[in-house]
Order: sequence, then structure tokens, then C-alpha cells
Amino acid sequence: ADVKEISEGLATIWTKGAVFYNPVQEFNRDLSIAVISSFIHDYKQEIKITKKGEAGTEDYKVTILEALSATGLRSIRYAKEIPGVAKVIANDISLTAVEDIKQNVIKNNVEQIVSARHCDASMLMYQHRHKNEQFDIIDLDPYGCPSQFLDSTVQAVKEGGLLLITATDMAILCGNSPETCYSKYGAIPIKIKSCHEMAVRILLQCIELHANRYSRYIVPLLSLSADFYIRVFVRVFSGAQKCKFSATKLSHIYHCTGCDSFTLQLLVTVKSDKSNHKFSIPTGPLVSKHCEQCKHPHHIGGPIWSAPIHSPEFVKKVLDNVPSSLKTYKRIEGILNVVLEELVDVPLYYTLDKLSGTLHVEMPSMMALRSALLNAGYHVSFTHMNKTSIKTDAPKKVVWDIMRCW
Ligand code: SAM
Repeated sequence: ADVKEISEGLATIWTKGAVFYNPVQEFNRDLSIAVISSFIHDYKQEIKITKKGEAGTEDYKVTILEALSATGLRSIRYAKEIPGVAKVIANDISLTAVEDIKQNVIKNNVEQIVSARHCDASMLMYQHRHKNEQFDIIDLDPYGCPSQFLDSTVQAVKEGGLLLITATDMAILCGNSPETCYSKYGAIPIKIKSCHEMAVRILLQCIELHANRYSRYIVPLLSLSADFYIRVFVRVFSGAQKCKFSATKLSHIYHCTGCDSFTLQLLVTVKSDKSNHKFSIPTGPLVSKHCEQCKHPHHIGGPIWSAPIHSPEFVKKVLDNVPSSLKTYKRIEGILNVVLEELVDVPLYYTLDKLSGTLHVEMPSMMALRSALLNAGYHVSFTHMNKTSIKTDAPKKVVWDIMRCW
């Protein structure tokens, strides 16, 4: 078979062509390098502080598992381009892939750091679910849906460790087959203009639910939609008390079948009396059956993650430290700048074409609509997921009134 030589970042790999390699995913790999580099810096500091005095904390050795590695390219790049990585395991179920990984590791002189494994990803992670064997970082980059791997992944990551998870089954997550999405992710998606953000939020709720089974919960650092996939970067922590709040981070979506507007309803609300939290379940549908703007019926979807999907503090750190040597540096910088501006407490967004189409008005310029909402006293931002869309905390009625006056 023809052998292809591929150079990306500091790695050069060879593959026989039967093993998966997608050049478009260079952005995904570059971004992951930037995120892991920033994460490791803080994580090592935290370990030094929380385990002060314990042996091995001074020069803590970070271990990464790439559970679905194909050619080994990503693992080799992590070893060569991220300072402070002590060990990377590049695993694949395909023997041909593992042969490629082994050769590529030798040719790139990273045998001291990267080792190849030939195992089912879930089996390997179950073998590493006990405290002393867990990984600091796990990268899951499957074909399509990652959900079959989540039960083992959430157990095999260390306390405060990082998960990097891709999903490429966008048609399912965006509502083309709600029943399939439910069986894979445990949520009903809706065909809505902001479906890419909905997809991210369905994946986050799915990871959280898997983590909850082991009294663990997630904290999203960065969640992106790019090209044909979504990618989330989340930390995993333990705490049965904290898991009680998981239901307060989830909402059902009421989506109007006429005008594409949406309203969220939390599954459970929390009343805080300092340390004494009381949880309450809504007593009835708080959103009416029909949309108050256009009178069409609502579809109900979800549950989706309705808490923040990024940590602006972390995103800022990544942005300040993205290595300018990365080929997709400009794109990373551009996307992260938009992400930093996104309203973190406002799930989903409106697209300008749908808004004006629904109301039969001329499409306003983005600047004009933004100014009108700001002048009315509301917050507004772009989103990296769609160039001609806005996020706003203005009530639907206000958005509609502004559009009607256009
Ligand atoms: N991460 C790679 C990269 O950045 O180039 C691409 C991974 S590719 C999309 C998915 C890989 O998962 C394939 O090589 C496939 O053989 C492997 N795979 C599929 N099911 C698996 C399983 N259950 N356990 C381990 N590997 C698996």
C-alpha cells in the first residue's frame, strides 16, 4: 500500500492510508495543544498547593490518554509541543492503526513519552478507574458520537482532571432524528437556528449525567462548534453535595414552531438560604402551549445544559498563551476573542435572517440591532457559532418590538 508522509506542527507521521487522518482537524489539534498547555500550568500549581509537602508534588508528572488515536499524530504532537507532559498513551482498537502509532513514535523520537496501546478504549479506561491509575487528561475523538465511551471516561480521569471530547454526529444532535439523539445522549434536540449551541449543551448534559452516577460533576472551560463537529473541554470533580445542583443546571427548551423563538424552563430551581439550599420542582408548565408572539404551538426539547459553557477566566489565559507557532494560530485567536465576548448566562441565540424572515421586515445590520438592544438597556453579544446571530438577555417581546419598528 502507498505510504503517505504528513507533517503537522512538530510531528511528521507516516500512514498506509487505511488509518484515519483528517487534515481539516489540524485546528482541533492545535486548539487542544493551546488548551492543554494552559490547563497544565494551573493544574500543577493547584496540586502543589492542595498536596503541599507530599512526595512527587514538586515536579508532578502529567499523564494523557488519547483513547482513540488512529495514526498517533495527536499524541506525538502533545508530547513534542506541550511543556510538562510526562507520559502519553496512544490507544486504538485497530491493529493497523497501532502499527502506524508504533512506527510514528519511533520516527519522531518520542519513545520516552508516548506509548502505543491496542485495546478497546472503554476497557482500557475501566482498567484505570481507581485513584492511583487515573489519567490527568483524557482526549476522546471518535467517529460520530462519543456517548458509548462516557461511562468509562468520567471514571478514569483524576480529580480536577481535564476531558477533551469531540462529537461529529451533528445531524443527530441538531434534530434530524430526535429519537436517535435521545437514545444516544438522553435529550430531545429541536430543529432550531441555534442548533449548534443546542448540540454543545446536549453533549454537556450527557457528560454531567454520566459523571453524576459516580458522584462527580463537570465544570466546562471551553465549548466550541467548528467546521463539522463540536468539541468541549471540561474539568471533572467529585462531591455528592455538589451533584445535587446538577438538575439546577438543566433546562427544557420551548421552541415556537412559527417564529423560531425559544424560552427555557429550568428542571429544578434552587433557593439559597446561605448554606441551607432548598430545591424546588416547577409546579406546572411556566411556558404556555402557544407562543405569545405568533400564536403557533411550542415544541418541547431538552434537557439541555443551561449553565455557562465556558470559563471566561480560563479562555483569557488560553488566549494570552496561544503559541504563535501553531499554523491555525490566527483562527484560534479569532474564535477565542469572540468566545470571550459571548454572554455566558444567555443560552442560545437568534439569527438575523430568521428574525427578519419571520417578521417580514428588511434585515437590519448587525450593528443597528445591537445598538437598539443596548439602548433599550439589555446585554447583547455575538457568538462564535454563527456569524450573523446575536445573543441577548432582552425578553422575546422586546426583540420582536425592535424588529417590527425597523
Ligand atoms: N484522534 C485522531 C486524530 O486526531 O487524528 C483521530 C481518531 S479517528 C476519528 C477514530 C479512531 O477510533 C479510529 O482510528 C478507530 O480505529 C478508533 N476506534 C473506534 N472504536 C474504538 C474503540 N472502541 N476503542 C479504541 N479505538 C477505537
